Amino acid sequence: MEAKEMDRFRQILQGKKAELIALIQKTENYGREADNESETMDIADKATSSYTKEFMFSKSNNDRQLMQMITEALARIEDGAFGECLNCGEDVEIRRLEAVPWARLCRNCQELAEEGRI
Ligand SMILES: [Zn+2]
Repeated sequence: MEAKEMDRFRQILQGKKAELIALIQKTENYGREADNESETMDIADKATSSYTKEFMFSKSNNDRQLMQMITEALARIEDGAFGECLNCGEDVEIRRLEAVPWARLCRNCQELAEEGRI
């Protein structure tokens, strides 16, 4: 991949990372506020609140996973290995990277992975 193109993906990934950091912090603040409120709530409110908290928690787990993948993609840019499939070493399709800049596998290998074959 050309350096210019890699730079473009670096910017996209850094932007996404900043967005995620803001989102994760917001979710954590929300969790803390919900904790403070729970003392004055009745049982129905508490049930709703714990459901919401669980939802926010699983969502923030996804965010963390995504964050991990973005961090790894940025590290691959530093190594000059960005855009190569981690399984077969071929170039990941640019169109795929446009849609999912943190993609680790080319489309073929992604399909194999989803079928549990690699
Ligand atoms: Zn591959």
